[in-house]
Amino acid sequence: MSGRILDGNQIRDQILAEVAQEIVELSPRPGLAAVLVGEDPASQIYVRNKIQASEKVGIRSRTIRPLADITTQELLAIVHELNTDDTIDGILVQLPLPPQVDSQQVLLAVDPAKDVDGFHPVNMGALATGAPRLVPCTPAGLIEILKRSDIPIAGKNAVVIGRSNIVGKPAALLLLMENATVTICHSRTADLPAVCRQADILVAAIGRGAMVTRDYIKPGAVVLDVGMNRITDASEVARAFSANPEKIARFEEKGTALVGDVHPGDMAELSSAYTPVPGGVGPLTIAMLMKNTVRAAKLRRG
Ligand code: NAP
Repeated sequence: MSGRILDGNQIRDQILAEVAQEIVELSPRPGLAAVLVGEDPASQIYVRNKIQASEKVGIRSRTIRPLADITTQELLAIVHELNTDDTIDGILVQLPLPPQVDSQQVLLAVDPAKDVDGFHPVNMGALATGAPRLVPCTPAGLIEILKRSDIPIAGKNAVVIGRSNIVGKPAALLLLMENATVTICHSRTADLPAVCRQADILVAAIGRGAMVTRDYIKPGAVVLDVGMNRITDASEVARAFSANPEKIARFEEKGTALVGDVHPGDMAELSSAYTPVPGGVGPLTIAMLMKNTVRAAKLRRG
């Protein structure tokens, strides 16, 4: 068997086109504020991509760039100002924050009505009680991929590896809302491969390159690979990409390769459908942020 590729770029473009259409009908246009503390290069790229996507769909955006030595109190003051600014519908505080800042306090300070990342306990609680408002973007993207690819969820066995607040837990709650029978696994799960082999839908959100191999995958399962891991070890690259000489050649040039949490060759061979890395789950995260910003604007405006 060779699994169907679930093309995240294509689904992202569909969603962005729909969001842009919704925005045409909104006046004033939704506003998004990104708070980017310091000079972390990865965070700079993430925020730049989010702002670019905002501009593309017609969301007004604003980036606030405090210096890396900002205190918790100073950052809280910025968040409070954005909470009260009526032109701002969505606030995202790019993580990680510098060590002197109490990240939890800052995230709790974001008005839940403007929490477009969906991380605030009020939004997590709404999701857990089956009345979601603003839902974390990456897990919401997983459901969009399944639905837009006509993959049934109701009645299926879904196994989620990972229980983080930003991916694993909300992904499990969303699958449950779609009437899957859900198992959540983590680092203390006994006989993880055997549990995963029960899955009709397997979600890997672990942060370990190509950890999920053929003995975890039931033939015909749908596999959603959330992992984004940079690997630099040649033997790891050789193991992950044994069937992909092109990828190995590129690694030899660049010294680094991107791999998901699932072994790409095993996933392609055994699954009925799967999200590749890159180009699978990743592109959906920003699209869902745009969708959340429009949703926040609509909810705030009644
Ligand atoms: P995280 O907070 O580090 O959580 C990882 C989870 O995996 C934890 O629940 C952990 O279990 C579990 N785990 C770790 N090692 C394990 C093992 N050997 N066996 C079973 N479970 C294990 O990570 P995250 O933020 O959820 O992110 C997960 C991955 O998704 C990362 O690769 C990240 O880069 C990627 N990601 C991608 C996107 C995207 O847009 N595509 C967005 C967010 C995250 P314990 O709870 O027991 O420690």
